[in-house]
Amino acid sequence: MIFLASELLVYNQRGYFGSMEYACKIANSKLIVVLGHTNCGAIISACNSFEMGHLTNLLNKLRPAIEEEKKTLLERNGDNFSFVNNVSTNNIKLNIQQIGNRSEILNDLEKRKKINIVGALYDIETGKVTFYEELSN
Ligand SMILES: [Zn+2]
Repeated sequence: MIFLASELLVYNQRGYFGSMEYACKIANSKLIVVLGHTNCGAIISACNSFEMGHLTNLLNKLRPAIEEEKKTLLERNGDNFSFVNNVSTNNIKLNIQQIGNRSEILNDLEKRKKINIVGALYDIETGKVTFYEELSN
């Protein structure tokens, strides 16, 4: 089962957790992949501190991923490819933490090694998916 990283945090009220719990507990899914992607419009907008009406609230949810990026000192904006990618990676990591924090069922299944929660980044240019095994715990 695959969840898109930028959507998971932003839309978590919309039943994402419920469907993850269902898939793992009832339908016996073994793997949750939190998938981010390069060149993500939502991440880029958040990196540019884009503000517009209700969208501002949504993009604010990506702010912790930006604050956690400490490597980039200059050009912390949406034009900086490596900055944006680091923020995407942080966002994936934070999403994985959120899954464990917010869902007792999934947290419990993961502790008992019934499921695996992993992060991955999809490169939209090459089509390559890089898995972040080290982010899963
Ligand atoms: Zn995106």
